[in-house]
Amino acid sequence: QINEAEVVLFSVPSYACQRRTTLDNHNVTLTDALSLLAENAELSDEDGRGVAFRRAAAVLKALPAPVTAMSQLTGLPCLGDHSLRVIKDILENEASDEVESTKQSDRFKALKVLTGIFGVGSKTADRWIRDGIHNLHQLQESGATLNRAQQAGLEHYDDLNQQVTKAEADAITEIVQEAVVSVLPGAQVVLTGGFRRGKQTGHDVDFLITHPEEGREVGLMPKVVFWLESQGFLLYQKTTRNSYLEVKDGPGRPSSNMDRFERCLSIFKLAKKEERGIKLTNPPAHRRWRAVRVDLVVSPISQFAFALLGWTGSKLFERELRRWAGHEKAMSLSSHALYDNKQSRYLRAASEEEIFAHLGLEYIPPSERNA
Ligand code: ATP
Ligand code: MN
Ligand code: MN
Repeated sequence: QINEAEVVLFSVPSYACQRRTTLDNHNVTLTDALSLLAENAELSDEDGRGVAFRRAAAVLKALPAPVTAMSQLTGLPCLGDHSLRVIKDILENEASDEVESTKQSDRFKALKVLTGIFGVGSKTADRWIRDGIHNLHQLQESGATLNRAQQAGLEHYDDLNQQVTKAEADAITEIVQEAVVSVLPGAQVVLTGGFRRGKQTGHDVDFLITHPEEGREVGLMPKVVFWLESQGFLLYQKTTRNSYLEVKDGPGRPSSNMDRFERCLSIFKLAKKEERGIKLTNPPAHRRWRAVRVDLVVSPISQFAFALLGWTGSKLFERELRRWAGHEKAMSLSSHALYDNKQSRYLRAASEEEIFAHLGLEYIPPSERNA
């Protein structure tokens, strides 16, 4: 017998960017289940369904206590019939048949293994699966052509599928900082992505690089990459040039979440902790380094606040910020700029706080953007 008065009722605003979502998740079982269904949808090219499950999971992540009864969810946003059914199954039976059978399905397992290769997306994985390739062994036997990224991904598969620790991220931060100030004194390096949100592990390490004097950052990335390469820190890198032009890419085409900064997707060769700073005399009995995915992005200082906001995540938080901007404020937000469609002008900002203010949102610090 449930005493109505004792049931905790929750209330959360509907956009994730209006909520404070810390890493302190009281509903891990439920959010893991919904995230798995989201992942399965994304891997199956059903992005709409994927976002719906991500939004539902994000609402549960924002709750101050565990959900114990369906009645507590009344009035909460973003919980569609499908997500509610999954939640109900788990509350009543401790598991959802749909989640369990998805997890066990050969197709999902194959998609996970194959997209676990750096450089392999859901489309490539799907094509391989249709050709009867379900695991790494079959891939290697198949003679399928791999591009340079995928070759590196396969070569470092185990390392890259092992979470990066905060300590490793800190060690890489030191290396990147040394590289950047060596080639451009005064340039600044900021850790972004999940580590900036306070996560203790991540799938990669993300950095944003800028210089306080506009224009000084031009040409910086190739120099940084050359420095890192010559010091033997890179196992793989692919640099993409900056292609952002306000006039060309401005308000007319804001919808893509791909930004146009000069960026470098790389794989670092990181010495194991006990080996750092030690010069080797004899060949080691075991491998003394491991591969770590690192993303480097260079932004001019005039776009820095937007780049920082855009690269701090979480991915859902970013998506919700753009949706809020477009639907509620008639503005277009990207990692480069904020455009006000009613005033037909760009809104400048020197800090993340100013961007939230332009958007009419309460400021949410990085540690509370874990939607
Ligand atoms: P993890 O710990 O798994 O790395 P993360 O939150 O750091 O989690 P990333 O995939 O590294 O996730 O992405 C970090 C941020 O960079 C996200 O907010 C994402 O929106 C942004 N981002 C990633 N790739 C791009 C891209 N190609 N263009 C624009 N932004 C991107
Ligand atoms: Mn990351
Ligand atoms: Mn990244």
